[in-house]
Amino acid sequence: MFRWLAGRGARPSRVAETLTRISPSAWQGARGSLAFLNGLDEREDEALRARAAWLLASKSFSGAAGMALDDDIMLSIAIQAALPILELDPVLYEGWTEIIVYPGGFVIPRTEVDDSGVVHEYIQEAAGEAWDGGPVILSWEDSCPGVPQTANVVIHEFAHKLDLYGGEADGMPILDAHPQLRPRQWRRILASTFECFEQMVTEVEDAIPHYVDPESEEADPWYGSLPLDPYAATDTAEFFAVSSEAFFVDPWPLAQAFPDWYGLLQAYYRQDPLRRLMGRGWRKGSDPAL
Ligand SMILES: [Zn+2]
Repeated sequence: MFRWLAGRGARPSRVAETLTRISPSAWQGARGSLAFLNGLDEREDEALRARAAWLLASKSFSGAAGMALDDDIMLSIAIQAALPILELDPVLYEGWTEIIVYPGGFVIPRTEVDDSGVVHEYIQEAAGEAWDGGPVILSWEDSCPGVPQTANVVIHEFAHKLDLYGGEADGMPILDAHPQLRPRQWRRILASTFECFEQMVTEVEDAIPHYVDPESEEADPWYGSLPLDPYAATDTAEFFAVSSEAFFVDPWPLAQAFPDWYGLLQAYYRQDPLRRLMGRGWRKGSDPAL
C-alpha cells in the first residue's frame, strides 16, 4: 500500500538538466543502433529523448557481478525502456527506483510446490526480471544493441512493470487513461488470443519428431513458425510481455496472426510500429511488400 510514495519520478528541473546532458552524438549513436526505432518522426524522437531523460533522472542504475556501467549503456537501456511509454504517462513506471544490470544472464533461485505438496527448489537462468514494487534486473549481453532485434528483454521487463502497476501480473495493465478501452473487452481478447496461441504451441510440440529434443536448438525451426516466442504461452502476464516485445521490434507476425490483439496493443500504447517500420521501407524475411 502507498507504494507510490516511494520511487516517484524525478523533479522536472532534474529531468531538464539530464536532458541537456544527452549530447546529440550520444543520442544519435544510441538511437541509431536500435533498428526498431527507424521511422520515428521528429516529434516522436524528441518525446523519446524526454522520456529517456526522465528515466535516467528517476531511476538509479547499478551494475552487478562486476558490470561496469557507463553513460552509453545507461542511455541505451533508457531509450529502450522509454519506447513503451512514448505516448503514455511516465507515472506508470513509478513506485520503484532501481535498474540492476548484470554483464550476462543471471540465476534466480525458485521454489515451487507441486500438486502433491512436494516442494521443488531449482535455479532458473534469466536475461531479465521485474519485481513487483522492486527493481528491474537486466542482462546487458541480452539487452545491448548487438543482439538480434526480434526480441527485446528491456521492453519485456518494462511491459511487466506496466502490467504490475495495475495490480497483479496478469496481462491486464491499468486502462484508466484509455476510456475507449474496456477492461472486459481487454480480458476477452487477451483470453481468446492466449488460448489460440497455446493451441498453436501444442500443435508445434506435437509436430516435433520424437528424435528431436524439444528443448534443444534443433527444435528451433518448428518453433520458428509461431508468431511469438513460445515462452508467451507460460501465462497471460508473459503473453502480454512477449507480445509487447514483438509489437515494438518485430510486429508483422503478431499483427498477421492476431489482428485484434495487435489492435488492442496499438490502442493501449498509442503507437503503430507496423506502419512506422513498414513506412520507412522496413523489409524482413517473409514480410509482405506493403
Ligand atoms: Zn517475463
